[in-house]
Amino acid sequence: MAPVLRQEGRSALRHAGLYDQTMPSSPALRAMNGDTLVLVVEDDPVLSDLLVEQLAVDGEFSANAVGSATEALARLRGSPPYYDALLLDIGLPDADGCALCQSLREIGLRQPIIMLTGSDAEADVVRALDAGANDYIAKPFRLAELLARLRAQLRSFESSGDAWLSIGPYQFRPASRALVHPGDGRQIKLTEKEAAILKCLHRAGTRPVSRQALLDTVWGFQTGVSTHTLETHIYRLRRKMEPNPNQTTLLITEGGGYRLESIPSGLAERTEAVKKTETLRMDPIEGAAR
Ligand code: CA
Repeated sequence: MAPVLRQEGRSALRHAGLYDQTMPSSPALRAMNGDTLVLVVEDDPVLSDLLVEQLAVDGEFSANAVGSATEALARLRGSPPYYDALLLDIGLPDADGCALCQSLREIGLRQPIIMLTGSDAEADVVRALDAGANDYIAKPFRLAELLARLRAQLRSFESSGDAWLSIGPYQFRPASRALVHPGDGRQIKLTEKEAAILKCLHRAGTRPVSRQALLDTVWGFQTGVSTHTLETHIYRLRRKMEPNPNQTTLLITEGGGYRLESIPSGLAERTEAVKKTETLRMDPIEGAAR
């Protein structure tokens, strides 16, 4: 189960521009059920595998792992999937973790970042927080404590209104349950369930999510909810978000479920971020490794 991106080779990652099209079929990208997806950036393979495995133990999280700053940048500027949080080692083989953290903030990554530091030396802690990390935990740490901190950061992020995702031509803001047109700022308000459906589909990237998986994620263990309920919500969502309600171009029916279509406007926005990364990435890569 443990997906380890570092085994996939650097050459594929160098073609980061093709990343969107080539990576989603990878078994490493497994966020099919809408659970909370964490990116582990850690070069110690034993700790990395352990974290990926333990995060997934009770189904609350799933995780992908990368072993270097280069891979982390490639993974994060590729889209999808969307990562809900990052666990970031302070000493990576090709970069200083704090410098990477700072670069990620500068290119607009807002999700919670928890730094894994080698010590709780004040200097490291201050550096991590100054670089934009939300929290830190010193190795060796108790997994339960890490999970508690992760949950706390995720809760705070979800309610902060900071989170927004790119869906079709829209910015999707889960906290305010709104789809916003970047052009004119026009907002489409969504119900709680509609927002939950979009969040779940967004996590899966452009791959379909089955009706059952959507029901489980959005309605949980509520009884009496049928696929008909889901279909009704999908119908209403389409009425709200499809540019032409008579033509489905964003929320596609496929594979016994639904998926989001990737739309060039989102990619264009992403391309700008990538260009910026190209400049910024030089700093962390050349930084001191530990
Ligand atoms: Ca390390």
